[in-house]
Amino acid sequence: MKLIVRVASPKRAFVYPIPPAPPTAVLAPWFRSQGAVRVFARGWGHEAAAYRPAAVAATWDQFDCLPALAFPLTHAVIVLACPGDALLTLQQRRRLWNMFRVPIFEQIVRKNGTLLAAECEAHCGLHIEWPDLDPAGWAVDPAPCGCGRKAPRLKPALEAEEIAAAAAP
Ligand SMILES: [Zn+2]
Repeated sequence: MKLIVRVASPKRAFVYPIPPAPPTAVLAPWFRSQGAVRVFARGWGHEAAAYRPAAVAATWDQFDCLPALAFPLTHAVIVLACPGDALLTLQQRRRLWNMFRVPIFEQIVRKNGTLLAAECEAHCGLHIEWPDLDPAGWAVDPAPCGCGRKAPRLKPALEAEEIAAAAAP
């Protein structure tokens, strides 16, 4: 008789937009903690607050109901979306800016932490990081990016300049 052991696919580490990562609280349970990046799988709470992160990565729904923080974030907010989700709207980006006053980065990830597309410091779309990503529903811009990378970018409906302005006015 064979014993079959099912091993869940291992979670990946969160990829911080501009390494090295500062103390970062990740509120989605899809990643494993590594270095300064800590995963708080139950979302925001005493443990995450006690860590006093410089950056927070979470889904839009998590940010939308995050309580006012007792300390300022100093580095970034990273909004995590799943394949099929709409990209952030300008209104959502403005709301995040008003809440945190730090640059906003958006990432598309699988629920095992695999990074599929990520916004760079040019804030001009999300570079496709996973060649098999199905871009259905998004516009794809093959032009080189202001950051120097050539990986094609997913673009939301609004103009890139508006996003850059809302990410770091
Ligand atoms: Zn870029």
